Formats: sequence, structure tokens, C-alpha cells
Amino acid sequence: MRCEILAIGTELLLGQVIDTNSAWLAEQLALHGIDCHYQTRVDDTLPRIVDALRIALARSDIVITCGGLGPTQDDITREAIAQFMNVRLRRDAQIQMRIEAIFRARNRPFSQNNARQADVPEGATTMNMLTGTAPGLICPIGKKRIYALPGVPSEMRAMFTLDALPDIQRFNESAVILSHTFYCWGQGESAISERLASRFIVLEQTGNPSLAFLADERLGVRVRLTAKAHESAQARCLLEQAAQG
Ligand code: ATP
Ligand code: MG
Repeated sequence: MRCEILAIGTELLLGQVIDTNSAWLAEQLALHGIDCHYQTRVDDTLPRIVDALRIALARSDIVITCGGLGPTQDDITREAIAQFMNVRLRRDAQIQMRIEAIFRARNRPFSQNNARQADVPEGATTMNMLTGTAPGLICPIGKKRIYALPGVPSEMRAMFTLDALPDIQRFNESAVILSHTFYCWGQGESAISERLASRFIVLEQTGNPSLAFLADERLGVRVRLTAKAHESAQARCLLEQAAQG
């Protein structure tokens, strides 16, 4: 099963907010053995979000979006998903009542924009975990799925952990992806990669573990082995074998 992440928000494209959500989600997916080969960022423009969803779902089974579920006019993830699914948005009376109650409790006026947060694409279900006002969405597209999470990091994390991840795990065979990193000093990236060239070729043939090089001014050259297995003990064993070979 292949998963990918689509972070939605113009602030990400302008460099005003760093996309820590995608980094956190990617780490979680790896920890749970779920392959994720693409991360995309798109601005708050309806046709571009629809386009990004189309591209992502053509090559992956699961797309996790974050951002754009809020009440303002530029929060259009719901609309984009409905357009992509070619369905209408239905206003969920129960969710609307819940949001109205939150506003009453805070003594804030409730506007039509706030009611938009109760809109759900036909055929989609809402996540149970309610942190902010907007619920996350689970949207089936044939055998594939979009999980729409909010942009606020704490809300996104809670909904991913308690709703999206258990749902994804129903479809994914249990696995784990572990990495082992070697920190190398005294030689440049190209010299180290040349020394490891024959190992690289052998590992490329099996693809598991994989070998990667990351040069960093502060940390030196990092050589990373990444293994995937059904259990962590198995993954650790693969890493140890590759490290010794
Ligand atoms: P809200 O109800 O707050 O509007 P939302 O789902 O619409 O939630 P956004 O408006 O897209 O979310 O983002 C809310 C805030 O969350 C942003 O201002 C930003 O600070 C943070 N945020 C959004 N996306 C990301 C991201 N990918 N990485 C880190 N922080 C993010
Ligand atoms: Mg918003």
C-alpha cells in the first residue's frame, strides 16, 4: 500500500510557515511501516488542489491532506475533495449543532462561514476525534482513500493518531521501517560513496535495506541504512547484517 502526503496552504508556498506537518506525518508512516514516496505542497487554489489530488491518487492508494479545513474563505479542502470525487457537499446537522455550541460557550457569534465546517462530501465520513471545530474527513474513492486533517499541528496529530492511522492499518499489513545512521567525518561525501560503491550495488539489488548519503555542514556525512520488515526485530537484524557486510 502506498501513501502520500499533500500539505495545503498558501503560507507554506510563500515560506511563511515551515511544513512541519509533512515531516511529522512522514515519520509516523515510516514508524508504522507504511510506504510514502511523495510529499506535495499546494496553495489554497481550488483547481490546483483538485489537480494535486488527481496526481496523488493516480500513483498512491492513500492521500493524507493537512490544512484548509478551517472556516475562512481560503479554507477550501472540503470543496476540492468534493469536486475531485464529483459529489456534492452535505451539511451535517449534528456537526453544525456541535460547532454552534462551541461558539455559544465562547460567547462568539456563529457565522455562515463557521457552518461550512459542518460540510461533508457525500460518501465521506467524519473522524471521531474532535479537537478544534472542524472534523477530519475519511473519503473513499473506489478502493483508495483521502484522509483530510486540519492544519493546526496539535489537532492534526491527534486526528492522525486516533482516527486516520487505525483506519489505514486495517488495510496495510503490519510492518515497520527502521533506519540506522552512521556519522562519518574526515572524508567528503563523494569519497565515502566511492568506498561504499560495491555495497551500494548489492543493496540496490534487494532494495531492502536501502542505502543513502546525506551531507551536512554540522553533522558531517551521514550514511543511512533503512530497512522494512514485518517486525522491528526483523528490521534490526536486516540493518545489522547490512552494517557488517
Ligand atoms: P483552522 O481552523 O485553524 O483554519 P485549518 O485546517 O484551516 O485550521 P490552516 O488554516 O490551513 O488549517 O492552518 C492553520 C495554521 O496551522 C496555520 O496558520 C499554520 O500555523 C499551521 N499549519 C498549517 N499547515 C501546516 C503545516 N503543513 N505544517 C506546520 N504548520 C501548519
Ligand atoms: Mg484555516
